[in-house]
Amino acid sequence: MSGDTLIQVQQLHRYYGPLHAVQGVDFSLNRGEVLGFLGPNGAGKTTTMQMLSGNLAPSAGRVLIHGHDILDEPRAAKAALGYLPEQPPLYRELTVLEYLHYCARLNRIPKPQIAAAVDRAQERCGLGQVGKRLIGNLSKGYQQRVGIAQAIIHTPEVVILDEPTVGLDPIQIREIRALIRELGQEHSVILSTHILPEVQTTCDRVLIINRGRIALQDDLAGLDARLQQGGFRVGLQQPPTVETLLAMPGIERIERLDTQHFLLFCDTGFEPAAFAREAVEQDWGLNELSPQMRTLEQVFIDITCREETDKEAAA
Ligand code: ATP
Repeated sequence: MSGDTLIQVQQLHRYYGPLHAVQGVDFSLNRGEVLGFLGPNGAGKTTTMQMLSGNLAPSAGRVLIHGHDILDEPRAAKAALGYLPEQPPLYRELTVLEYLHYCARLNRIPKPQIAAAVDRAQERCGLGQVGKRLIGNLSKGYQQRVGIAQAIIHTPEVVILDEPTVGLDPIQIREIRALIRELGQEHSVILSTHILPEVQTTCDRVLIINRGRIALQDDLAGLDARLQQGGFRVGLQQPPTVETLLAMPGIERIERLDTQHFLLFCDTGFEPAAFAREAVEQDWGLNELSPQMRTLEQVFIDITCREETDKEAAA
C-alpha cells in the first residue's frame, strides 16, 4: 500500500442469512480525497460503512486503514478513523461539552490534551455557542454537528460519514455540506449518500454502488459527462415530420412529448447551433432548445442494463 493510500478495501462481502448484501467490493481512498459513496436505498452503503469502521465483521475480504487490518489491529486502525453512523451515537441527556469530553476519553486522547481537543472540535463544527446545552434540546442540524464533532475529536486522517444530511431541512443541509467540504481540507472523507447533488457539491471522486456491487468509479467530471448525455428538449411551433428530424446529424432517437415538443436523444455528432440554424431556415418556429440532464436513476438504470447485457454477452 502506498503512503498516500489511507483505506484499502479488498473483495469485501457480507451476507445477512441468504441475502448477499455486499458482493466483492474493492476500492481505495487516497490522502486528501473526498470520496462520494453513492447508491440507491438498500444498495449496501451502510453495510459497507459499518465494515470499514470495524462495527460489522465482513463475511469475507479485508479492510486496511493506514496499512492496519481493521480486524487484526483494531486499535491502530481505529485511531486513524472517525465515524458518523447513520444513527448518530448521541446521549440526549448530556450537554455538548460533557459528551465531547466523554468521546475524547473513549478515543484515548491523553488527559492533558482533552480540553484543547474538545475546544477545537467544537469550534470546527460551529458548536461554540451551544456547549452547555443538552443534546436532546438541540435542533437536528446541531445534533448532526455534534455527531461530526465526535467523529473528528481525535483528528483522524479519515472521516466516514454515513448519510449525514438525512432528515435535515434545506438550510441545515447546506450548512452540513459546507462543513463536510471544510473537513475535506484536513481529512480524507468518505461520504455515503443516495443524493446526487450531495456528491456534486462536496466530493472529488464518486463510487456508485448498486445491489451490493461497485457499478462505477469516476471523478466528478466523468459523472457530470454521463449526466449530460440526456439529449435536448425542443419546442417547434410548426414541426416537420419525425422522419425529417431523425435525418438530421447526431439525432439517434426522438420521443414526442406533445404536438410541439420533442426529446432528442443525441450522439456527439449533434450540434445545437446547426440544429437551431436549420430550424430558423425551415421556419419550424423554434421556441425552445434546452439540454436535458439525466437523473441519477437513469444513470443507475443504464449501468444496471449494461451489466446485464455484459453478462448475457459473456454467457
Ligand atoms: P439505505 O440508504 O436505505 O440505508 P443502504 O445502501 O445503506 O440503504 P444497507 O442498509 O447496507 O443499504 O442494506 C443492504 C441490504 O441489506 C438491504 O437489502 C437491507 O435490507 C439488508 N440489510 C441491512 N441490514 C440488515 C440486517 N441487519 N439484517 C438483514 N438484512 C439487512
